[in-house]
Amino acid sequence: MRALVLDAEWNPRDDYELSPEESETHKAMNSGQVWQHPELRVEECERPEPDDDEVLVRVRCTGVCGSDVAMTETDDDGYMHYSAYTRYPNVIGHEFVGDVVETGADVDLFEEGDPVTAEVTDYCGRCEMCRRGHHGHCNNFEQLGFTIPGAFAEYVAVPEKILWDVSELRNAYEDDRSFYRAAATIEPSTINYYGLFGRAEGIQPGDYYVFHGAGPIGLTGMNVARAAGAGKVIAFEPSDERRAIAADLGFQHVYNPIETDPVAMINEVTEGMGGDVHVETSGAVTQTYPVIDDTLAEGANVVHISNAATAPELALRKYQGATAQMYGSEGHTGQGIYPRVIRLMAAGHLDNLPIVTSTFDLADADDAVRQARKRIDGKVLVEM
Ligand SMILES: [Zn+2]
Ligand SMILES: [Zn+2]
Repeated sequence: MRALVLDAEWNPRDDYELSPEESETHKAMNSGQVWQHPELRVEECERPEPDDDEVLVRVRCTGVCGSDVAMTETDDDGYMHYSAYTRYPNVIGHEFVGDVVETGADVDLFEEGDPVTAEVTDYCGRCEMCRRGHHGHCNNFEQLGFTIPGAFAEYVAVPEKILWDVSELRNAYEDDRSFYRAAATIEPSTINYYGLFGRAEGIQPGDYYVFHGAGPIGLTGMNVARAAGAGKVIAFEPSDERRAIAADLGFQHVYNPIETDPVAMINEVTEGMGGDVHVETSGAVTQTYPVIDDTLAEGANVVHISNAATAPELALRKYQGATAQMYGSEGHTGQGIYPRVIRLMAAGHLDNLPIVTSTFDLADADDAVRQARKRIDGKVLVEM
């Protein structure tokens, strides 16, 4: 089968201390410290064989994630920007939808023909973190498209326990192509849903939301916020193209943070109340947190979703003064997040189809990642 493979050189930085596990397995906990000179290629690979507890999925559509982009970008020394858990060479891609074509001997939740998507983290279910209910932070986790083969491929093998049926969505879309494209955006929506409703507590219909960054995660988050009854959705995004996508989605309060004063804009739109919910989706935290600090509504929830290497200074006194709280949020595993996002989409409350702005064939999947690097799209998809 054909697949998009990322390869890189294992060259730990001189000042990076490898753990014994990293040395043994060549799975890097911090990719940016270890992997040098990443290269992307569409190649012929072995078609995966599903284990007894796995399902073989014929992939239909896979979205390019910011993490896929960061894996291909490097610093001046050639080390990749992506800083989490990976092993290469690997087939990348994790925001996908496809149809079940084969089931392992122990699989009974799915059958051939079911359209499915998957959570990214394959957790063990037995470690301390899993037993506490934090499956997303499993001590023995693997991740599709990061440490095990992913979905920029004709086929992917996926453990049954992280798969979700999406057939409910079919009725919400006119044709198969739209259905599959929309279903490929479930994963980025769940990242937001988990942050807003799995992690933060007390977000209410009518709340004023501020999204700091309207890239693929910010845009899907704005859609989730609207579906959840946001009073107003405000967003700041420097890319003209991305602001235009947000405007096409019907969002009225979308501004360039470089040309406007974000604090003044938030105060104007909220009539001085501030943001009830702030979502950090840009990664430019040294610029966004000073704005957040100054526009906290009473009882505000700040949800930190982006993956930023730098650390902002926080005006903690202002959090006290506003009885505000901050929630760190990573991933989307467990807590019924997937089925609820699927229901929202099936009910027509959450439609990400207009966010999809570029599509590529699998043969050109490397170009799809290059397109995403321009940071002007809503979502770039690869169709198989
Ligand atoms: Zn992703
Ligand atoms: Zn575990």
